Amino acid sequence: MIDRFYREINYLRISVTDRCNLRCRYCMPSEGIKLLKHEDILSFEEIVDFTKIAVDMGITKVRLTGGEPLVRRGIINLVEAIADIDGIEDFAMTTNGTLLAEHAKSLADAGLARVNISLDTTDAERYQQFTRCGDIEQVFAGIEAAQIAGLNPIKLNCVAGHFSNQSDTESVKEFGRTNGLEVRIIQQMLFETGNFFVVEGGTGGDCEKCNRIRLSSDGKIRPCLFSDISFNTRQLGPKQAIQQAVTQKPETGGPCKHNWMHGIGG
Ligand code: SAM
Ligand code: SF4
Repeated sequence: MIDRFYREINYLRISVTDRCNLRCRYCMPSEGIKLLKHEDILSFEEIVDFTKIAVDMGITKVRLTGGEPLVRRGIINLVEAIADIDGIEDFAMTTNGTLLAEHAKSLADAGLARVNISLDTTDAERYQQFTRCGDIEQVFAGIEAAQIAGLNPIKLNCVAGHFSNQSDTESVKEFGRTNGLEVRIIQQMLFETGNFFVVEGGTGGDCEKCNRIRLSSDGKIRPCLFSDISFNTRQLGPKQAIQQAVTQKPETGGPCKHNWMHGIGG
């Protein structure tokens, strides 16, 4: 699919849930989160149907995200069903890693190719502060399990923002070097002001090269992370929702009304 600005759109990011077992300061408020009603969340069947149609239309790269994708019950079944779709060349997941120790092998067996794991510091106390409740040992165990399961290349997503300092970011870079993991440094994004940056070591944030569309857990397809434009796949049907999203994908992102990442998936 080619959009108005001659960008080839071939990358679909699917948020499978708005729920999460952490409360990262830059992603979610500590309380008062309005969670989606269960009936508003797309079923696995709807997600798989949507993905098949998207792949028929030219999507070759799929990433599962959230909220935390591994808190969605039955996630392995979804991974298996998506891995079965012919035409997907790259199938990945972004996870906070806390539940990976128990799921890494099943994910790999189900056909997931690789994972990005979020880690903003290697210091246990700082990690607990950033995530408000996280246990870093679970993430280290998750990374090891992903390595053993062969979910390669494993990339670490490290958000740098006003909450963190240089030694947090450096500690993750060093951890990456020691353990043979790629590290992507993501500057904290601010939706209200439209502040976003090109990801160091990655491809996100570069509007001219943007090849992405996003499906939220309640079935809205978004052509741009930094825009409020969305199309409802339940109302329009996947094909029309995708066509409209590609046709109306903005040239660049800007300030927007939604202000937390957990509902969209990053
Ligand atoms: N729960 C999973 C995780 O943390 O990896 C997947 C969902 S999370 C929303 C996806 C990515 O978005 C994570 O790497 C997270 O660090 C990043 N993220 C969340 N809020 C952000 C913000 N305000 N600015 C930049 N990155 C953000
Ligand atoms: Fe949860 Fe990921 Fe958001 Fe952290 S960044 S609160 S792990 S969804």
